[in-house]
Amino acid sequence: MKSGFWTKIEKSVRDFFSQQGFTCDSCDGEVFEYPHRRLCAECEEKLIRTGENFCPKCGRKKVADGVCTDCKKNLPKFTRGFSPFVYRGHAAALINRMKNGNPHLAYYFGEQMAEDFAEKHLKNVDKSEELLLVPVPLYKTKRIERGYNQAERLAESICVRLQALGYSARVETELLQKRRETAQQKQMTYVERMDNVSGAYHVHKRKECKGKTILLIDDILTTGATSSECAARLFGAGAKEVYFLVAASLEERK
Ligand SMILES: [Zn+2]
Ligand SMILES: [Zn+2]
Repeated sequence: MKSGFWTKIEKSVRDFFSQQGFTCDSCDGEVFEYPHRRLCAECEEKLIRTGENFCPKCGRKKVADGVCTDCKKNLPKFTRGFSPFVYRGHAAALINRMKNGNPHLAYYFGEQMAEDFAEKHLKNVDKSEELLLVPVPLYKTKRIERGYNQAERLAESICVRLQALGYSARVETELLQKRRETAQQKQMTYVERMDNVSGAYHVHKRKECKGKTILLIDDILTTGATSSECAARLFGAGAKEVYFLVAASLEERK
């Protein structure tokens, strides 16, 4: 176990190199290109993109026309979802690393999420309108244990890119809060997950939410139970639209 001091030094070095673009954020191989890329070409090629055929509601990669089978069964409560990558293989491994001690990977994923959202939807958004970026919160003890919330890191990266594109955007970490810990959801069905997260999130600053276009940010979309619960709370507090942006989503099950 590394001491807090060495973890901090390592993080600063990582952040510096990531910002300079000297090394690949995934394999640490050298990258000498301008404009710089955060991942080398080989690492980037291993990531599976959602591509052209995505669900118009939740954004996951799908096979047939219309909305995906998950949305047919349980229509998510957010307005629309967006994800640049499929949650599988190398993307899944990198996202797990981002959650477990390598938050610098959020720079890359955040940029990709912003580009994906820009390409699929941003032209419909008025540049004078402020976009509120709301990360899906962790329960406070979990956040302390992990040392950071990966959704916050993603939101910060997305915000920088949206501002560079000329949009007014702000990260708001206090607006949505998690008031109790929830059980691990991996083995749960959608109904069990909905039960598990019901009432776990609440809008702390209701005034901030009213009439706003919100980009709810998380790392992955699986069944959509957590994001639906968060979106329902945000709409309940008067949000105008709630878009859900994730780094990767599970593809449609056949
Ligand atoms: Zn690489
Ligand atoms: Zn869908």
